[in-house]
Amino acid sequence: TLDFHPTGRHFLQIPGPSPVPDRILRAMSLPTIDHRGPEFGVLGKRVLKGIQQIFQTRHPVAIYPASGTGAWEAALANTLSPGDHVLMYETGHFATLWQKMATRLGLKTEFLGLPGVEGWRRGVQAHLIEERLKNDREHSIKAVCVVHNETSTGATSNILAVRRAIDAAKHPALLLVDSISGLASAEYKHDEWGVDVTVSGSQKGLMLPPGISFNALSPKALEASKTAKLPKAFWAWDEIVEMNKTGYWPYTPNTNLLYGLAEACDMLLDPTFGGLEGVFARHQRWAEGVRSAVRAWGLEIQVTETATQSPVLTGVVMPEGVDADAIRKLIYERFDLSLGTGLGKVKGRMFRIGHLGDCNDLTLMAALSGCEMGLKLSGVKLAGSGVAAAMEYFAGHPAPVALQK
Ligand code: PLP
Repeated sequence: TLDFHPTGRHFLQIPGPSPVPDRILRAMSLPTIDHRGPEFGVLGKRVLKGIQQIFQTRHPVAIYPASGTGAWEAALANTLSPGDHVLMYETGHFATLWQKMATRLGLKTEFLGLPGVEGWRRGVQAHLIEERLKNDREHSIKAVCVVHNETSTGATSNILAVRRAIDAAKHPALLLVDSISGLASAEYKHDEWGVDVTVSGSQKGLMLPPGISFNALSPKALEASKTAKLPKAFWAWDEIVEMNKTGYWPYTPNTNLLYGLAEACDMLLDPTFGGLEGVFARHQRWAEGVRSAVRAWGLEIQVTETATQSPVLTGVVMPEGVDADAIRKLIYERFDLSLGTGLGKVKGRMFRIGHLGDCNDLTLMAALSGCEMGLKLSGVKLAGSGVAAAMEYFAGHPAPVALQK
């Protein structure tokens, strides 16, 4: 049996899916209603308005009953044509998966980045994008694709810098951004940052179970979708955006997840807790507490560029010769705590601690305690107590706004 722990709560500290708050679980337990009935239209309009506020956009947001991977495909299929040249940037495993998908869809992908694992320890280097676009004098590149929060490493890239790089090169390419794990934990401004399509998912900062995903659009992206020739039917924005005007979808939407989404938007936007600015400040603070623990252990943080270190998760690099997955397994079995595995190029070299979605100081203290016990039991030599450092940080730096309940 996998059930090692018959009592207490499991600590789900992977960087998504994140724990679903009781308030959202209760909202989702309401009876499923007629998706063509009058009540549904009210719910539909409510979630569409709420999610626009979360993306910080005035433009349409398509909601799909699919995981984030589906919304990746939707972003590409709606805006591009077979053989189109797209410039993608390698920040880590998820950027790599998106690039593979684009290739499978019949796009000509160019994967920009730093050599080896160097690019997996930093965010997007916007100047490389600017240089590349300046050399594309015929404007053959149709889209620039970047990952806002690279979940495999814990790098949050500066999307505004990417926008400025495209503008500085006076290039017409569309800007497509994956903020699947960034949205609703890390600051994100779809309109202000001039993003054409933002892709996101339900199971991270939105605190919902997996199962719905999003494309936030720009007028330029909508215009591009009218002439884009990659095959699209289920993913096509036109019918969705049209029917959404009355709060309905052209297919059966995920009713109970939409109840959850309505509740999540209310929680995230609640002015009592500082609204979205409060959410971002809380995650920055939790991230700093977790990083203070890693520093006290004397271990390396996967992302070396401090300005890019993520408010969503922290990657903890193991000393040479230590298997990060063996430590994760021990921690899971002994302390009922799930940590994220290393992916792709950093498999076995590091584990990831999630501090996204529904958190508080003490859930993170529990997670750090589990890590510290697991590291010691595995014989990893620690420079000091990360738990003590994090306690000091949290106690000494009160939350800027009341913690979200
Ligand atoms: N992109 C990023 C940054 C992710 O973190 C994930 C999932 O963890 C995905 C894409 C893929 O999304 P999904 O697993 O929901 O299909």
